[in-house]
Amino acid sequence: MIKGKVLVTGGCGYIGSHTILDLWENDFEIISIDNFSNSLPISIKLIEDIGGKKLVNYNIDVTDYRKTEKVFKSNDIIGVIHFAAFKSVPESVANPTLYYDNNMIGLLNILKLCQLYNIKNFVFSSSCSVYGDISELPVSESTNLGQQKSPYGTTKRMGEEIINDIAKSSNNDSNYILLRYFNPVGAHISCKIGELPLNKPSNLFPVVTGVGFGRFEKLTIFGNNFETRDGTCIRDFIHVSDIAHAHTLALEKMLMPSSKNICETINLGTGNGVSILETVNAFEEISEIKLNIELGIPREGDVVAIYADNKKAKEYLNWNPKYNLTQMMHTAWEWEKLKDNIILSC
Ligand code: NAD
Repeated sequence: MIKGKVLVTGGCGYIGSHTILDLWENDFEIISIDNFSNSLPISIKLIEDIGGKKLVNYNIDVTDYRKTEKVFKSNDIIGVIHFAAFKSVPESVANPTLYYDNNMIGLLNILKLCQLYNIKNFVFSSSCSVYGDISELPVSESTNLGQQKSPYGTTKRMGEEIINDIAKSSNNDSNYILLRYFNPVGAHISCKIGELPLNKPSNLFPVVTGVGFGRFEKLTIFGNNFETRDGTCIRDFIHVSDIAHAHTLALEKMLMPSSKNICETINLGTGNGVSILETVNAFEEISEIKLNIELGIPREGDVVAIYADNKKAKEYLNWNPKYNLTQMMHTAWEWEKLKDNIILSC
């Protein structure tokens, strides 16, 4: 039985595409809005081929209120998952205006339209970058937020604050779940869809696999003298399909008859901190390729070490990450090797 129609903004992007597949598997109907500012139209075909269904995508910029409203007007939507945003930390440091414009105006438009069209279930893509520099690890949802290290992180913190204020406003019986992703990596288990950045990626995994494949010349490690076990930064890598499934669980939670005016912020990470060097080693072991590595200076906007306390996701959403680091790297590497051929064959 179909559980209802869900609007996924940014549905052709990395996490959006995996989430659509998970929602389909769990009997939701989907429409997507994506303007391909950081994805390719080919994503639609890749999603359709794996999911075996047709995907309706509106090629619209969510910062355009008038055009976005038409989508709300012509569809009977039970919930919205809002992915559409820009996500590069270094790009946001170089061009904050672009990030505040796209990430804040897009979010406000979608929230306003949800109120206007009485859509009561909203999932927001937040990020562990809201924590900024923290002294206590692992970070839980109640950890005090430090100063965000980049305009990108600030857009996510501001987004969370806006949603919290709206949830508290009078007569609001809508539900909001704010998911703070740690570091989404890897590719769908079929290895027929994965991260497909338009520009040179700034995240570690696609750079590692891209260097291994010969797409990029070398991997720069931005600092090896931090106070960590091997001097390199520590991150909590989490498989993209585990992240995707949490969105289905969040929607199902909000659709329960007892759910009224919930507003919950939830970490999505494995709870394991992995260093940059350990990640490189995992790749070299799986691929049997030695990476060309150079040492760079620390990047503005990067935090030294962060990993999640994921107890709340486990208890509140009944979520359990399934993939380990080897599986994350394996799917990322298979996708890297296959993606040119898959795209050419479409
Ligand atoms: P992505 O860039 O692959 O996907 C975002 C999609 O949104 C793209 O397809 C892009 O074309 C679209 N988009 C962007 N602005 C738009 C606009 N104004 N109108 C319409 N479409 C627009 O990114 P992703 O990795 O899938 O991330 C999804 C969300 O998760 C983002 O909000 C991001 O900030 C957040 N997030 C991502 C990560 C990560 O490392 N991937 C970590 C934490 C949080």
